[in-house]
Parts: sequence; structure tokens; C-alpha cells
Amino acid sequence: MYKDKNCGEVDESAIGSTITVAGWVHRRRDHGNLIFIDLRDRSGLLQVVFNPENSEIAHEIAGTLRSEWVVQIQGQVISRLPGAENPELFTGMLELSASDLVVLNPSLTPPFEVSENTDVDDNTRLKYRFIDLRRPRMQELLRLRHKVTHMMWDFLTEKNFTHVETPILLKSTPEGARDYVVPSRIHPGNFYALPQSPQQLKQLLMVSGVERYFQIARCFRDEDLRADRQPEHTQLDFEMSFVHQNDVMEIVEDLYTKIVSEIVPDSTISTPFAKLTYAEAIERFGTDKPDLRFGMELTTITQIASRSGAQVFSATESTGGVVRGFVAPGCSNYGRRQTDGLTDFAKSSGAKGLVFISLDENAESVEVLEEHHIKSPLKKFLSVQSVKEIAVEMKAVPGDLILIVAGTEKLVNTVLSNLRNELARQLKLIDPKQFAFAWVYDFPLFEWDEDLNQYQPAHHVFSSPKQEHLKYIETDPGKVLADLFDLVCNGMEMGSGSIRIHDRDVQEQVFSVIGYSSDEITERFGQLLTAFTYGAPPHGGMGLGLDRFVATLAGESAIREVIAFPKTQTATDPLFEAPSTIENEQLDELHLRVVMPKT
Ligand code: ASP
Repeated sequence: MYKDKNCGEVDESAIGSTITVAGWVHRRRDHGNLIFIDLRDRSGLLQVVFNPENSEIAHEIAGTLRSEWVVQIQGQVISRLPGAENPELFTGMLELSASDLVVLNPSLTPPFEVSENTDVDDNTRLKYRFIDLRRPRMQELLRLRHKVTHMMWDFLTEKNFTHVETPILLKSTPEGARDYVVPSRIHPGNFYALPQSPQQLKQLLMVSGVERYFQIARCFRDEDLRADRQPEHTQLDFEMSFVHQNDVMEIVEDLYTKIVSEIVPDSTISTPFAKLTYAEAIERFGTDKPDLRFGMELTTITQIASRSGAQVFSATESTGGVVRGFVAPGCSNYGRRQTDGLTDFAKSSGAKGLVFISLDENAESVEVLEEHHIKSPLKKFLSVQSVKEIAVEMKAVPGDLILIVAGTEKLVNTVLSNLRNELARQLKLIDPKQFAFAWVYDFPLFEWDEDLNQYQPAHHVFSSPKQEHLKYIETDPGKVLADLFDLVCNGMEMGSGSIRIHDRDVQEQVFSVIGYSSDEITERFGQLLTAFTYGAPPHGGMGLGLDRFVATLAGESAIREVIAFPKTQTATDPLFEAPSTIENEQLDELHLRVVMPKT
């Protein structure tokens, strides 16, 4: 070994001893005759002092050191002089008095300083990721991710799960995204597809009798990159046989509670996790990813509002739309600038407008509101009586600001759920240490796709319709609910899972609703359907996004912070300059010809 101690771990018990350390020159300071460097390795910093009286040669070489040079230093651990201590640093009470210095490798001047405070653009960070990752925070995040997966391994192993690796070179495993494909050299004109998830494989493993499978699995989806998506992501993928929905949820709940409490000890996490049906989540929060760290739940006031006399509301009702809203507590004195800001925000989510009703805090109660207690751009169209009715229905109190949106149900829900999150941020209603997990279940099996004029699976094609809804599959597919559930935390989707279909006939019925031809079915799912005819046990499982979970644990908002070598927003890797062209010989071997798009 080049070192017998880690820099950041040298403690006072080492004082007086001779040690050898190795690492990167973090900073150099020349103080007349003495030269100081902070030496950094993955464990932290150690101050080293070069005194020509100890070694003239070492002192002389130390004068040539620059940031990020790699060096090996031998010396004696000594106490720092009184007044020179640095209580911020674990090793801040001592230093290494160097007697020997070997330069293992010099470095060019790095494009940015290895420090938390340097302001570098993302592209440069990724181009020089090997330097970026030297930063203590990035090292910490790499270790945190390792710790989380380690805990997953331990926990699931204890629960008798077997880790099985499934192939990366496979065939399309459709889950709603485009595939990444790999041309076959041996089979001209044929392609492998990278798995969008190991979905069919884990189901096959259940038919294979594995009963409890898991994998920290890489999933590849060629999507147009929305904010904070990666072409490849990692998920904790697992599957269990002979289970009901609650058994699957219980495993995840125990595992996630354990991880959160251990990794973020000062967090608050309520158990059991909240449970809401999909319909309830939409009704109360306008979204299937509700943030439960604050209230401001939505209320439907279509009827009351349309009776109020305001034309916008009655027109909405008569065209089949809805009027919904929520109450911003204590915000009655919001000024024009604030309400304009919220209106702009609502418009950016698609709303035509946002209606405010402000209730004067001096009113005794909403039941006895008088005209002068009410402020609203719609005031001249709304009777005092209808404002009272709206306020009572929405459980508003004097001092509150009521926010109302009218339109199609989908639009109103999108706008209000976004607005609710935005307002919670503005009002600082969010406790950053809280992990509010919730299960959202009983999702519809199908979703109507306006563009395709066709039902599509709400999640993927393998989820089981609820037993009692099987009867609607052919007659009224939109009514079918599935044993399909999501885990949500703080308004983000953490993963989805379901009880799967294990009966060939039901699986074929589902395929027919979404309009797959029998050729398509055989081509894409033949292997699974065949397996189902050889004794498939009832089974279910989940895929839980690891990147988002680790980022949330770390308090990071971007998942690229917890991925060692992520891609940019345009799916490129600036370090490897991937994707890239390949040699003509390679193309020939693969029997491929490139036809560039016309620009
Ligand atoms: N395969 C699903 C996904 O990746 C998860 C699951 O249903 O297990 O979203």
C-alpha cells in the first residue's frame, strides 16, 4: 500500500507517530519558510507542513506542488500550535510534519476547483466528471447510494429473496416507451432490444418457481427527455409468488421505513403509509401523486358555483366541465402582485384564468359574511349568499383566500394540483425532513388515448384487473379497475407495481382491448403466454426507482447528482462524447447503412 492511514481519519491518538499518507493536493499555502498543504483523499483532509529543517528536499519539492497533484507523504503527526486549530475539520487539531514527499503524478490545472462552492455549468461537470466526483459531496452521494442498495440486498436476502440477473440483450419488453436497440452481427437484419424493465423476465422467474426475486436492475427507455429523466435508470425490481397486493406493499413499507430512518435519522415518517384509492387521490388532490405534507385539499363546487350567477361557472357546468378549488389559509390580504403571480402560474399549467375570493379576517364567521368582507374580481357577479355557500362548502374561514378554476376535469385537476404545490412552497408549509409516503391503489386498468382513439394500458399490459371487474373487460373497459398501485412520497412517484395476470385467457382479453393483433401478441408476448399454460402461480411485484429515492434521501432535487456518469438533458455523455458515429467496417459487419435525416 502507498499509505498506512487515511487523511481524514488521523486522530489525536496518532500524535507522535510516523505515518504515510497519499492523496491529492487540495490547496497549498506558502508561509515564508513553511509550506502548508491540505492533502485530500476520500476520507477527508489532513494538513501537512513542510519545514526545511526536517527535510530540505521535501520542502523544495513541496514548493512546486499544484492543485490536484497526486503525492505520497511520510511524516510525524504533531499537535497544531495553539490558535492554529481548525474546529471545522476532524483532523483540525493536528498536522503532519513531513519528512518525505514523493510526487506520484502531477496534474494539469483542473478546469474547476474541487470544492463545493465552485459554480460550474453542468456540461463542464460531466465532461470532467472524474474531477467532479472528487468533491466530498459527490463522494458522499456515491457512498450513500451504495449504502441504500446494500440495505436493500440485506433486507431482501433476509426475507428469502434471490437476486437474479436478467439479460440486457433481449427483445422488446414494451412498457410504453421507445426501445433502445442493438443490431446483431450474427443475424443480419435482426436486433436485440434493451429491456425497458425486466417485467416479463421476472414473471417468467415466478413461473420458474423462484417465488421471491429481486434485482437492482438497469432499465432503458428511449424517451424524449423530460426534466430530470435519464435514458437508463436503475430500479429495485422485485416479484413475489402467492401474494396479494397487501403482501407486496408490506415488504416495501418495511424496507423503505428502515432505509429512511437509518439514512435520515432526524426525518419524520408516518407508518403505516397512507392509503388512497386513485379516485380518492384525484378527488382530494387532483393528482395521483399527492404531496401529503400539507393540507389545502380540493373541493368540487360545480353546482353551487353554477347557481351563483357568474357566467363562467354556469357555462362550465352546462358544457360538462367542473368548478373546483382550494383554500389558501390566511392569505386574504394577498395583493395584486401576488394574485397575478398565481394567475400566471395557473396559466402556465393550462388554465384560462384563476378566480380569487378573499374573505376579510375581520368577519366573525363565513356564515355571517357581509358584502364588505368579500374581495373578488368576480364580485359583481357573485351574490353574498353564493360566496357564503362556496366558503362553507370549502371550509374556508375569515382571513382565507379561495382559489377557483373552471374547465374540463382533467385541466382543472392539473392546474389545481400544481398550484397547490406551488402555494405550499410559497407559504413554507413543507417540512423538508418529512417523508410522507402514500400508496395510491385501484388504478383504472385502461386509459383512453385521444390520439390513437383507443384504450391503452394505464401502466403496462400485465396488471391484473380486479376479480370483480373482469366482467366489464369486453363491455366497458373504462370501468375496469386493476390491482395496480403506486408508491408516492412527497408528491413524487417512487414506483409502481401490481398483481399480475397469470391466466392466459385474461391476458389475451386485455391485449384485445388495446387492439393488439394476434401476430403482435405472439411476437411480443408469446413466451409469457406459453409459460402461463404450464402452471403459472399467482404473483405480483414492483419496480421502484432507485435514482429518485436516493436523491430524495440526500435532499438533492436532480437525479444526476446521485448517478456516477449520467447523461445530459439531450441524452449525451460529454465525457465519452456518446453517442458517436462508428467506423464503416463496424457498420459493414453489422449490415447497416446510415441514412442521415434531411435537415
Ligand atoms: N415493470 C414496471 C416498471 O418498470 C414495474 C412493475 O410493475 O413491477 O414500471
